[in-house]
Amino acid sequence: MWVKSQGSISENVVQVTTVFSSHFVVCGDELAIIDTGVAAGEEALNRQLSSVYEDGGGIDYILLTHAHFDHMGGIPSIRKSSESCKLVCSAKTAEMLSNKSFLEECWAWNKSLADDASIKISTTKKDWVNYFQVDKIIGDGDSIDLGDDVQVKAILLPGHTEDTTGYLVIPDSVLQAGEAVGGYHGRDVRSCAFSSSYRDYIESLDKLMSLEIRGLGLPHAGTLRGDLAAKHLIAVREESDALYKDVSARIAEGQVITEIFEQIEADWRSELKVPEGPFTANHKKLVEGMVRSIAAELDAANS
Ligand SMILES: [Zn+2]
Repeated sequence: MWVKSQGSISENVVQVTTVFSSHFVVCGDELAIIDTGVAAGEEALNRQLSSVYEDGGGIDYILLTHAHFDHMGGIPSIRKSSESCKLVCSAKTAEMLSNKSFLEECWAWNKSLADDASIKISTTKKDWVNYFQVDKIIGDGDSIDLGDDVQVKAILLPGHTEDTTGYLVIPDSVLQAGEAVGGYHGRDVRSCAFSSSYRDYIESLDKLMSLEIRGLGLPHAGTLRGDLAAKHLIAVREESDALYKDVSARIAEGQVITEIFEQIEADWRSELKVPEGPFTANHKKLVEGMVRSIAAELDAANS
């Protein structure tokens, strides 16, 4: 089942949604949110979150899957309202978050998206630089104990980006891993998203397919429950292989890389209905990354 609405996903996980994305709130004695969407969704997100808090509470942890602008946009406003909230991510993500000009660029993308939607965001460029101090670096297999027998285990899943990390909620067997799990856009419409490495992405998918996952959080649009979770991972792996074969064949025919990704990107963008503005820019970067990653694999195999 594809669950898009706000509500309980499993015993210890509540899904909160905004028009831009959906997020898991993991509820032990303490609360953790996994990823925070874009800044344009911050007001709606904070409103949804306050309905999950117990009286006087707040979010204790933000767990970040990777440093892409559309996953980190709500971090400053959540940390403003929950001052003790800790930011947790992988060592590679932390390295990116320590770069001031990278944070300023992410803020600019969030601001431009909010401006396009005529939404005012509460945080400034300066806030962005101040609110991204990392409190805890998490490694592969490390867990955050939220109390009440609820834990979140980190799984390093490179391939979408080098820093992508998945978070498995135990004992619920519910996972959120950003675009490591590809995209689901309705029945039979899936997309893969390996901008750093095709081979790493496939290995990460294989790692996930060996787990028993009862709920799979999609990067922007709800959760797949039951058999659909495993089926989706298989389909995204097939989608990745199909793209690899397509790009390999085009290269063998002598088509140039720029032309290959421009053609594929335009086809996908219309099929997936990617909105104009920063999302389109992001999509172009993603498809270019995928095509270049395949070309690099082929070069390495031929040398
Ligand atoms: Zn991403």
